[in-house]
Amino acid sequence: MVEDVHADSTDANYVPEDELLKSQTFTQGELNDLVRDLDLSKDKAELLASRLKQKNLLDKDVLVSHYRKRNFDLAQYYTTDGPLCYCNDIEGLYANVLQEHSSSDWRLYIDSSKRNLKAVLLHNGNLKPGVPIAHSVYLKETFVNLQEVLEAIQYRIDIWNICGDLKIIGLLMGLQQGFTKYCCFLCLWDSRATGEHYKKCDWPKRTYEVGKTNLQHSPLVDPNQVFLPPLHIKLGLMKTFVKTMGKTNSAGFLHLVGKFPKLSEAKLKEGVFVGPQIRQVFRDPDFEKTLSELEMSAWNSFKWVCENFLGNKKSSNYREGVATLLNAYEKMGCCMSLKLHFLHSHLDFFPENLGAVSDEQGERFHQDIQEMETRYQGFWNEGMMSDYCWWLFRDNRNKIYKKNTEITEHDVKGTTLLPLLQIITCQLENSLVSPTKRRYNVVTQAIALKAHLISPACYLFFQSLDCLFLPTTDHFVHYRLALG
Ligand SMILES: [Zn+2]
Repeated sequence: MVEDVHADSTDANYVPEDELLKSQTFTQGELNDLVRDLDLSKDKAELLASRLKQKNLLDKDVLVSHYRKRNFDLAQYYTTDGPLCYCNDIEGLYANVLQEHSSSDWRLYIDSSKRNLKAVLLHNGNLKPGVPIAHSVYLKETFVNLQEVLEAIQYRIDIWNICGDLKIIGLLMGLQQGFTKYCCFLCLWDSRATGEHYKKCDWPKRTYEVGKTNLQHSPLVDPNQVFLPPLHIKLGLMKTFVKTMGKTNSAGFLHLVGKFPKLSEAKLKEGVFVGPQIRQVFRDPDFEKTLSELEMSAWNSFKWVCENFLGNKKSSNYREGVATLLNAYEKMGCCMSLKLHFLHSHLDFFPENLGAVSDEQGERFHQDIQEMETRYQGFWNEGMMSDYCWWLFRDNRNKIYKKNTEITEHDVKGTTLLPLLQIITCQLENSLVSPTKRRYNVVTQAIALKAHLISPACYLFFQSLDCLFLPTTDHFVHYRLALG
């Protein structure tokens, strides 16, 4: 770098060497962002800072020791209480990372599995990263545990909209779990009256009287605060489709058995699929050749609904498309599931800007935090939660680091495909950057482009890389690479 300075100083525009040297040193904020770009642990960040200091490459007021305690400021906003670690002051946390927090701009995503329970605030519109506000590795998904989480994060003060899969929503509504007669949180749809399912779409409105109609507890959240989860519903539609084909071992089903040898036939019969597998089937021209006429029309309408309603865009004729899907599913002999019921009876309950408030972003958070989990050996406490938050927001938010291959509209206009390919390949091959960080870069800065700038060729290219097409607002689309 010093040599560069000398080379530059021979240029026509003379700049005093002191001034140039000064502009070459890192400020604390710049170094912080570099540490974020390189995804360095505290120890490595400190080592980098001390090496740079030895070469006089840091501003005078940069503290090398800053990295050892980089998250100390943020740790005060988290409390560990038994199995649960939660944010005790959401306003304070947001203020500290210089973000505005208005509960209408964020939605609460709750995710749970047999192993853990997480609560994350996701940005409506998905232009900002998700902020984790509660986590437990021991708490299982029960009503009482969800109640505890909501109390800890003071849900009564900040009323966010809620998103999560239908099981979580059912629990939050106080519904009894398992295969119950009244399993819809909005109406008294009788899941057992199969004869009426495709005929009747107006069911009596649900009452919330505890002890009746499968309601075990008073709801923890207002049903009107719920955002129905498009990703979860998409997976449910695929499940029903495959399950129905599996009943007759049709040629299409056998094709899938051959295509996914790692999935057991029993799992396939249950239609257990995840997002990337569905995209693989979408791209497989041979699959469609194996389908019967009825299956083909169900499959086509499913694809249409994914692209024109449950995805990033909402076509003006989405109602007809959904009706076509229900009709085709009925003809194919699919049983009405709770997910189909939402399309059948509650189409108006879906949020207007479905892509902007999708549950799909929650899945992204899931992957992003995995690396941090490894670093802290799965030990979720205020140290880890705050270190993760430190890493989320940059110090110099408006600064564009060209070397870091931020893709701007300018890069994309016109030619699109080749430069994008080069930039992304360069990002992926940069061995200094860890997989999660790479993904983060690709997702959050690199490829937030205006939809009209993306050519169809470009879209196909991303598809070929097995990218997850993330719906956001009308004007923005996010692509992300499904790495690992
Ligand atoms: Zn209903």
